[in-house]
Amino acid sequence: MNIKRNILLNPGPSTTTDTVKMAQVVPDICPREKEFASMMKDIRKDLVKIVHGGDDYTSVLFCGSGTINIDICLNSLLPEGKKILVVNNGAYSTRAVEICEYYGMPHIDLKFPVDERPNLVKVEEVLKENPDIALVHTTHNETGTGILNPIREIGELAHRYGAVFTVDTTSTYAMRPIDVYKDNIDFCMASAQKGLMAMTGLSFVIGKTDIIKKSADYPKRSYYCNLFLQYDYFEKTGEMHFTPPVQTIYATVQALKEYFEEGEEAKWARHTRVFDAIHEGLDELGFKDVIKRDEQAGLVVSAIYPNDENWDFMKVHDYCYERGFTIYPGKISTTNTFRLCALGAIDREDIVEFFKVFRAALDEYNIAVPVRY
Ligand SMILES: *Cc1c(COP(=O)(O)O)cnc(C)c1O
Repeated sequence: MNIKRNILLNPGPSTTTDTVKMAQVVPDICPREKEFASMMKDIRKDLVKIVHGGDDYTSVLFCGSGTINIDICLNSLLPEGKKILVVNNGAYSTRAVEICEYYGMPHIDLKFPVDERPNLVKVEEVLKENPDIALVHTTHNETGTGILNPIREIGELAHRYGAVFTVDTTSTYAMRPIDVYKDNIDFCMASAQKGLMAMTGLSFVIGKTDIIKKSADYPKRSYYCNLFLQYDYFEKTGEMHFTPPVQTIYATVQALKEYFEEGEEAKWARHTRVFDAIHEGLDELGFKDVIKRDEQAGLVVSAIYPNDENWDFMKVHDYCYERGFTIYPGKISTTNTFRLCALGAIDREDIVEFFKVFRAALDEYNIAVPVRY
């Protein structure tokens, strides 16, 4: 089968290989069969292996998009009478704060500017002043801007003050190398369609088994989204509590195979090549980006709209989209930006081809090059 290859420069879902796409086409199967359960057992092990976890870590699968993981970790891992600290410098940590609000969980929203790394002295001050903080949460790569947060240092502080550390690694997992021990991570998370380059619908939390077991006695704030319940069901039956995303799981098996074949280092080197090519292309056209170069996570570039009356993001988007390239709007409320991302099964040549099309779009709509600010 010949499937059109689109280059997705949005922050996920990402461009997939044809072999991953085709892995979904399988004979119909009831997911309660042993054959299916054994496949999920292998996936769970592989997911832990990607972040170099040992026997003290496990992974738990859920059916849903990546946000379900944030919901699950926060609502399941907060003991009675304790508080959550969200170290917040962007849209995804803000989402975590909103989850706390929806569940009515006591929390501190420690806000920092979206274009700056969190101030660790302030983080420590808050931890010192609030001994009832039992959980610290932050985002590794704030996908809205592309800033890389110092998770190792924040995790170290969380542990020093006796708190569990959960990190939203949705936009770094299986791309930027992560080591749960060195990075002081108790829980991290992702979904299959981002770094793994599989399909949407499968998300997973990777974390410390003893903490999950301990959380059995914590308040149950959700029925569908409880970490212990899902973990316990997996351990007892090998199955997901409720219907799994069957075809997505077949795609994930293939994607994991391809992940280990490519290798952690080579894959990160490829994403870095793509990222560098994005910067070269933008620099050549005179675009400015939001986050300091050396603070970017190496996966998302947020470029500022030029100051040109002919600039119209949607027109440029549509021009590129019709030619097989998807670009994406920004996620910063105070600045007009668009994003180009280095996720997916793409390489440098795809970015070179993209910039030919992008340049043609600028010419088509009489947008000055180099762009003006
Ligand atoms: C993509 C992403 C998510 C999940 O978003 P969904 O829309 O639920 O897929 C969560 N956190 C981060 C940092 C992300 O990049």
